[in-house]
Parts: sequence; structure tokens; C-alpha cells
Amino acid sequence: MKKTTGMDRATTRSWRPATRALRGGTWRSEHGETSEALFLTSGYTYDDAGTVAARFAGSADGMTYSRLQNPTVAMLEERIALLEGAEACRAQASGMAAMTAALLCQLSAGDHMVAGRAAFGSCRWLVDSLLPRFGIETTTIDGTDDAAWEAAVRPNTRVFFFETPANPTLDVIDIAHVCAVARAHGIVTVVDNAFAGPTLQRPMELGADVVAYSATKLMDGQGRVLAGAVCGSRPFIEEQLLPFQRNTGPVLSPFNAWVVLKGLETLDLRARRQSEHALALGRLVEPRVPRLLHPGLESHPRHALAMRQMDACGAIFAFDVGTRSAAFALLDALGLIDISNNIGDARTLMCHPASTTHAGLDPAERAEMGVTEGLLRINVGLEDIADLSEDLDHALTAAGF
Ligand SMILES: *Cc1c(COP(=O)(O)O)cnc(C)c1O
Repeated sequence: MKKTTGMDRATTRSWRPATRALRGGTWRSEHGETSEALFLTSGYTYDDAGTVAARFAGSADGMTYSRLQNPTVAMLEERIALLEGAEACRAQASGMAAMTAALLCQLSAGDHMVAGRAAFGSCRWLVDSLLPRFGIETTTIDGTDDAAWEAAVRPNTRVFFFETPANPTLDVIDIAHVCAVARAHGIVTVVDNAFAGPTLQRPMELGADVVAYSATKLMDGQGRVLAGAVCGSRPFIEEQLLPFQRNTGPVLSPFNAWVVLKGLETLDLRARRQSEHALALGRLVEPRVPRLLHPGLESHPRHALAMRQMDACGAIFAFDVGTRSAAFALLDALGLIDISNNIGDARTLMCHPASTTHAGLDPAERAEMGVTEGLLRINVGLEDIADLSEDLDHALTAAGF
């Protein structure tokens, strides 16, 4: 394989974001293919015994087994690291594999973790159910309460874990503030950045230590594959994440890595266009419903903070229509927009979190997080904004709004 400039950090770090998203990490074979090659192989062969011995000893670069490294996956890892501005990145089998690895690789029995309470349903399950089973204490707080982070710190607190904007309540957490509190106590911050993605929000620039992704969402962007990624410093990735990942095995398939590489080529375009569409639709819906939450709208309690820490406010917003029956009536009246619990897709998708993504939590937890019975979440896509407006207008009217 011939290494091209896509893998040469000295060159790629001088590129601007759009160039990084399109060319970063490209590692061409001897054929000089334009598009990244798909290496569907689990194993590798060697010209002689000394070569493989050197690779296993760590004294020579090169592939040995695709649970440890694969050329297509390595291209994706390098591209995501470049987009994030991280020293290193490792791809994971899914977003939840990324969150699990980012936390379990560094926490042990007797440690304590503080987490923002508004979170993706499975992230809450990790915090509330999985980690405590292994003797890791967890505390959930209202992450938008700036003082609550410091107040929750204990002598054994090792990690702060949060997402912003949060799924599905669009809570916005002050990344720079929380990271500063963490740093003062020697605590590692792990940020789930799936909602915004690296072209709209880069938590490391604001002090985060580890950024974890569901690449299933905006990075793929076309609803095709599950994928995840963890970004961090080189020592964190090599000394903490890699031993965990290589020995437990939640690695990304090369095929899925290749699909996400294609998605990243258009990530910036999609994220910005979908943000514009979400703002336009949010403005249309807001006057007609009791409550609407979009960090890009002036009515959001943390609008000013969101505008400071994000380049654009994202494709997703939520609104409350009061009751589950009104929410279902609105969903059932949609013609173009699909009922779907996925996000990040180029298609506009809508769901009722209390009966889908957050159905596994008990009602008290949902209430505490703000996932009410009348809450609807919409992922705004790339369709013509006039068609989307007409469809939502019709559904709102049908549901009595
Ligand atoms: C979807 C999502 C996840 C989980 O990702 P998967 O790829 O579905 O495993 C985690 N966090 C957030 C914020 C998400 O939106």
C-alpha cells in the first residue's frame, strides 16, 4: 500500500475542515483508486516469519488481524480524528459500543461518575444500571445547572459524562464550564457529541478530554449503517481504550466504515442545510404549540450559549403537544414525513420519545428528564422546505393545532 498525503498528519493538519472531511485519512493502494478501497478481510499474510514477529512485538507497523486494525477502518479513524481535532480516534461497532468502551475502559469498582440526566435512553441505562452492577457509583444531575457539577464531585469522582444538545429534550450544557470544573479536580470529561457532530460542535476545542460518537447518525447521514467512534489523546486511546477494545471486540466492520467514509464527504453540507431547515420549520411550528425547544430559536433557555459553542444548531428539535393522544394523532396525520425513531438521516423523521427511544425508562425518570407524554422529536432532512412545511401544517391542523 502506498501512503498518500491523506495519512500524513503534517499535511492534513494544515487543511481546512471541508478538505479534511473529503480527503483526510485517504490511504491509497498501489492501484491509485480515487475512492477509498474496501478491505473486507479478517486476516493478513506475511512474506516471512520475521515480519509478523516484528508486528506482534510492536516494532514494525502493519496489519495483523481486523479486530486490532483494518485499512478501511483506519482511514475512517484518521478522518474523524482530523474533523474533531483529536490526536487519535478508534471506530466502534455502534454508538453504544463507543459510549460503553469510553466509560468502561477507564472506570473501576470504587470509582464515581457524574452524568447529565437528560440523555439518550441507552446512555441512561449504562449510567443507572450497568456501571453500578460493577461497583461504579453514579450520580445524575441537571446538567444545565452549572453549579450542580461542582456540587456532585466526590474524592473518588473520575469521569463527567454528558451530551449536548441532549436527546430528546435539547438541553444545552456549557461545555467549557463543565470541562473547567473537571480539570480542576483531575476528572476526565466524556462528551457524547452525536446530536451535533464534529462540523457543528467540537467539544475538544472547549476542553473536553474524550468525545464519543454514534456515527450512525449525522456521520453516515443516510440511515444505512450502525457505527461509532471514540476520540481522545494518543495516550488515552492507546493505553486505555485500545486494550479494552481489542480484547473485548466491539470493532467496526470494514464495510460499515467505508459507508461512513462516504457519508463524511458531505457531512458539513448536510449538517448546515438540515440546521437551516430545522430553524425554518421550528419557526413555523412554534406559534401553534404549547412548547417548542430548538437551541437555534430565541425562545430556548440557553440560546445564547448554544450560539457560542455551536456553529449551527442542528437538525433536531422537540415540541410538546400536551398529551400522548395528540402526539399520536399528529404523527398519524403525516403524509411525507416518516414516523421513525432514527435521527441524523437526510429524510425528515418524527417520533414520540416516551413510547420509543425512552420507553425503557420508568415514568419518574422520564418526567425528571423532561420526556413528557406529549413530546415529539423531529429530525429535519433535506427535502424541499415547502413540502415539509405543507406536511407539518396539515398534520398540526389534523391534530387540532
Ligand atoms: C443514537 C445515539 C446513541 C447510540 O448510538 P447507536 O449507534 O444507535 O448505538 C448514543 N447517544 C446519542 C446522543 C444518540 O443519539
